[in-house]
Amino acid sequence: MTLNQQAASGQVADDVEIAAMVAGKDGLRVLLQPQVDLLTGRIVSAEALARWQHPRLGTVMPADFIPSINRQGLDRKLFERVSVRVIEMLQTMRRAGVAIPVAINAPASTLSDAGAVESLLQRIRAAELPASLLRVELTEDQPIRELDVLRASLLKLEEAGCEVSLDDFGTGHASLKLLSAIPLSEVKIDQYFVTRMRRSAVAFEVLRTAAELATRMGWRVVAEGVENVEDIPALRAAGCRYGQGYALGRPMLLDELMIRLRTQYDGGEPLAASAAYASSWIQAYGGGAVKSEADRVQAIQPVATQ
Ligand code: C2E
Ligand code: MG
Ligand code: MG
Repeated sequence: MTLNQQAASGQVADDVEIAAMVAGKDGLRVLLQPQVDLLTGRIVSAEALARWQHPRLGTVMPADFIPSINRQGLDRKLFERVSVRVIEMLQTMRRAGVAIPVAINAPASTLSDAGAVESLLQRIRAAELPASLLRVELTEDQPIRELDVLRASLLKLEEAGCEVSLDDFGTGHASLKLLSAIPLSEVKIDQYFVTRMRRSAVAFEVLRTAAELATRMGWRVVAEGVENVEDIPALRAAGCRYGQGYALGRPMLLDELMIRLRTQYDGGEPLAASAAYASSWIQAYGGGAVKSEADRVQAIQPVATQ
C-alpha cells in the first residue's frame, strides 16, 4: 500500500491534518533524549524530539510527519513550536537547578531563514536564559541550496552563544565544503556506522576517521544510536567522547530526565575512566577495549547507577 493509499484508508495522517497540527495548539509533544559523556557516564545535554499525540492513531513518530511538514513549507512553524516548548523546559530545569543544554532539530531551510533565527534569539532573551543552553542540530534531510545564506544565519546563532551541531553525519548531504564553511561545535555520527562497526572493520574505520577529522577541527564527537553498552569502549577508542542511544537513555519526558539529572547531581564525582583513542578495529574488537573487564564495568556502571 502506498502512503497515499494508507492516508485515504485513515491509517496515517494526511498533509491537511499535519498542517492543522502544526498550526494548532494541541497534539505536538516534545521528548528529551539524553546525550552522555562516554568517559564519565554523565548526562551532558539532551536532544528535543517531536511526537504527535494523535486522537485516532496514538503516538505518531517524526518520520511520519516531518517529511510532509518540510514539503508543505511548514518547517519554520514547527521550529517555533518546538523552541517555545524547549524554552519552557529549560526554565523548569533551571528553577530546579539541573539545567543542561537542549538541542532542537531543524533543516537547512529553517536555519537559513534569518527571521526564524532572530525570533529564536528574541525568545531566549525574553526568557532570560543563557543562549548556551539552546543548541540547534542541522538535519541532513535537505541539500543545501544557498550555503552563504545558511552560513550567515548560523554565524548569528554562534555569535549569540547558541552552538550548532551537524546531525546524521556520514549519511546525509554534508560535503567537506559544508564542513569547512559553517560554524560548528559538534558532529553527530549517524547510527548507520555505530550499528555496523562491530561486524564491519570498514564501518569502524570510517567512523574513526570521521571522529578524527571532527576532533582536529575542535568539534565534539557524538555517536548516535548507541544500543549496546558493549560498544562503548570501542566508541571511545574510535574517538567518540559522547554518545546518544537507547543504551544510554531513551527519549523521555522532562520529569524523567530531571529525576536522572538530580540523581546524577547528588551522585558526587564523575567516574574516572581512561580511553585509548585511535585504536584500530582489531584492537577495539579483537583483544583490546571491549574484552577488558575494567572497560566493561566502566561502560555499564554509569547507566546502571542512574
Ligand atoms: P535525529 O535527529 O537523528 O534523532 C535521533 C533519532 O534516533 C530519534 O528518532 C531517536 O528516537 C532515535 N534513536 C535514539 N537512540 C536510538 C537507538 O539507540 N537506536 C535507534 N534505532 N534509534 C535511536 P525520532 O525521534 O523518531 O526522530 C527521527 C528524526 O526526525 C530525527 O532524527 C530528526 O531528524 C527528526 N526530528 C525529530 N524531532 C524533530 C523536530 O522537532 N524538528 C525537526 N525538524 N526534525 C525532527
Ligand atoms: Mg538530531
Ligand atoms: Mg541524527
